Amino acid sequence: MIKMKSFQYILITLLLISVSFSMKAQKASAFSDVKENNPSFDSIQWAYVKGIISGNADGTFRPQAFLTEAQFAAMLTRYYAAFQTEAGRYKNLDHTVWSNSTYEALSRFHIPLLGYENPAYRNQPVSRGLLAQVFAYVNGETHELEGAVRYLLKVQISTGQSPQRANLLEQFGANNRLTRTQAVVFFHRLHAQKKIDLAKPLITKKLEARVGSKEAQLAKKLAAQMVDSRVKLKEVSKAEYIKGQQLPAKPTYIKNLLFVNKQYPLPKQFAPGENKTARAQFKKMATEARKSGIRLTAFSTYRSFDYQTSLYKRYVTRDGKKAADRYSARPGYSEHQTGLAFDIGETNQNKHWAATSFGQTPAGKWVAANAHRFGFIMRYPPGKEKVTGFMHESWHFRYVGNEVSKRIYKEGLTLEEYLGI
Ligand SMILES: [Zn+2]
Repeated sequence: MIKMKSFQYILITLLLISVSFSMKAQKASAFSDVKENNPSFDSIQWAYVKGIISGNADGTFRPQAFLTEAQFAAMLTRYYAAFQTEAGRYKNLDHTVWSNSTYEALSRFHIPLLGYENPAYRNQPVSRGLLAQVFAYVNGETHELEGAVRYLLKVQISTGQSPQRANLLEQFGANNRLTRTQAVVFFHRLHAQKKIDLAKPLITKKLEARVGSKEAQLAKKLAAQMVDSRVKLKEVSKAEYIKGQQLPAKPTYIKNLLFVNKQYPLPKQFAPGENKTARAQFKKMATEARKSGIRLTAFSTYRSFDYQTSLYKRYVTRDGKKAADRYSARPGYSEHQTGLAFDIGETNQNKHWAATSFGQTPAGKWVAANAHRFGFIMRYPPGKEKVTGFMHESWHFRYVGNEVSKRIYKEGLTLEEYLGI
């Protein structure tokens, strides 16, 4: 009997030791680049345990990196249960862009953010001023910038960045980029002050509307307009590469169309080969062109990720990066990797292949005027470089199907404009 009891004691002691040991081990190892001597260690640890941050796949947190607006929106959604529940309702929304459900949810609460309509803002750093606007607003205060900053200072969620400055916005650093650590500390202070629920007016004023409906679209527009223009860090072009963007795990489909441009890359592993329907339609087009004495050929269609890599490298070596980016896509960003892009030329007229001059030849004119009848669109029309990201290519056609191609042709749109990107 005594023996049994002491055995139990030993077991319990062992258990306690192992529990305290594992707690300690976990505390020290949340992120490889956040050490215990980091002044914000506790806040980062708290955010990790709370599930507000998860860090990078390589086990780092990158504490001094700038937080993007989409990352900020995600933290906000994980912090407030009401946002989380709402975002859960949009889980099936175009899952290829992970932030869509988050933005859809936040728009229903009229949260001031820039990335609702122009997704390019989502990947840009967010300013401290915008955080102030959002934090004041979710706590039932004004979203107006000065008032919001004053509120954050008053309730000591912030102590300001440059207290010696006379100007309130400069004092707070409203126009400065928010680091990942700063964001976490702000959230931690909210929590420490037991500000854990959304202000009531936000919940009562929540918009109930179908995704894509007029009301839902309007809510996004108005929420984006709530952002003070002084805290917009920079106008972002929709036609430029996003710095530091990682290739996604899945390709993007919008309105059932596989979509690629300088902001919507493909996964490295995406290798569908040449599309069979597109090839069949091209054959039909070539047969039709023959009747007008034109012999068409598709001299470049599907290109693998690796092939595009070597092609792009070659162009950069020849013309420099800036020039190459105007006519050749970086690996992962080429429409040719979809198997739906066809570079069209005239048989035995190689001198006009992939050359602007093709557009001036009878064959080039014929394709420009007829491709839409076979489901193809001129993907990079003249005068649209700011929309498509590429200079005019009279030879590059993209298969989108007859219905869409006819509409795009008739209305003189680019694919971006048709998809509303
Ligand atoms: Zn091409």
